[in-house]
Amino acid sequence: VSTDYDAVIVGARVAGAATALHLARAGRRVLVVDRTAPTQDTLSTHALMRTAVLQLQRAGLLDRLAAVTPPIRRLTLAFGGEPFSFDVRADHGVDTLYGPRRTVLDPLILDAAVEAGAEVELGKSVTGLVHDGADRVAGVRLGDTTIRAAFVVGADGLRSTVARLTGAVDRRVVVPTAASVYTYYSGMPDPGFDFRYAPRATAGALRTNDDLTLVWAGVPVRDMGDPADTFASTLTRVAPDLAAAAGDGVREERFRFTPGIRSFLREATGPGWLLVGDAGFTKDPLSAHGISCALRDAEFAAEAIDGAIGSPADERRLGQRYESLRDRFAVPLLEETAALASYDWTLDEASALMRRLGRLTDLECEYLRGRESERLVA
Ligand SMILES: Cc1cc2nc3c(=O)[nH]c(=O)nc-3n(C[C@H](O)[C@H](O)[C@H](O)COP(=O)(O)OP(=O)(O)OC[C@H]3O[C@@H](n4cnc5c(N)ncnc54)[C@H](O)[C@@H]3O)c2cc1C
Repeated sequence: VSTDYDAVIVGARVAGAATALHLARAGRRVLVVDRTAPTQDTLSTHALMRTAVLQLQRAGLLDRLAAVTPPIRRLTLAFGGEPFSFDVRADHGVDTLYGPRRTVLDPLILDAAVEAGAEVELGKSVTGLVHDGADRVAGVRLGDTTIRAAFVVGADGLRSTVARLTGAVDRRVVVPTAASVYTYYSGMPDPGFDFRYAPRATAGALRTNDDLTLVWAGVPVRDMGDPADTFASTLTRVAPDLAAAAGDGVREERFRFTPGIRSFLREATGPGWLLVGDAGFTKDPLSAHGISCALRDAEFAAEAIDGAIGSPADERRLGQRYESLRDRFAVPLLEETAALASYDWTLDEASALMRRLGRLTDLECEYLRGRESERLVA
């Protein structure tokens, strides 16, 4: 079968750009398509957990990010009582965290993919899939244009068109339980990463680009009212010191909010297609792991595609391996995140949930670093 590309990737943000980067570096012909541009902002509180920072470091992108984004070296937590602060522990080769705006992070990854040889078409929507004689996906339709490819990657987010058109089955679903509101301030002292928990409410802050501080507040979905009112009352109750610091600063952007996000873990692959990032695995943002999961999926999916192009008989096995590897990390993360986002906890239980999420992050970092040494040995 003659194809235009080895892979056409739908979605140019973290999941799609990183998949393109890995495939282009492997010498594959890649086209990334997105209906918007990743320089446009998207809904996200963009806290990078240690796994995400490790992935960017392994991809050789961390220096570029660190050159334009302030470092986060101090964490603050509170579970009802007084907040306590501590330094980011140096572990798994990471001693600094980051909270980059998506207008910074997503283009940075996409630029690296282009440098590696990926082609990009922005401002175009994928409206259909192309199949070959059997039921194998063999490309996409962009309006009147058909693009053929050996693989189609759905990196098109939680309302994925590729997932809908392939009929990818949801394997687990969690109804929305948590709502959140956030905005940006100038003139606030640097909070590092600051996460606060109170009965039936959360709040927090992080330093991001352009000397801005993102401040957010979260509540159970049924407690969400007018976003500005919910933000003000929740922040004042959960973190009065942050509310006062925000009051001394200047709010620079409008309030953005999510009334609740449906979580799902979806079938990840079939003949000629794979789902990467939120398209295949969406969880509540409260655990702040969407970006790290997207970066991890991208690496594993690119390996599966690269392997299957080299050895087509292995496509099914490699696809199943991609899905099981993803699920090894996704399933426990989905469960702990759903428990946190339920707001059905005591403050001691919230603290224990945060520790368990930290342990999952450690396990994933250990696994990723182990892969690196395996590769170096090989
Ligand atoms: C309120 C909120 C806060 C969050 N906070 C954090 C956090 O602190 N830390 C963290 O790690 N994660 C966070 N997340 C999650 C994180 O934002 C997502 O996991 C991440 O954006 C997933 O990246 P992605 O590339 O898979 O999908 P997306 O970022 O959704 O990108 C999908 C892209 O596909 C494109 N697209 C869709 N359909 C088509 C089509 N038919 N044709 C062409 N293009 C198409 C879209 O234009 C979009 O650019 C948060 C999410 C929300 C909603």
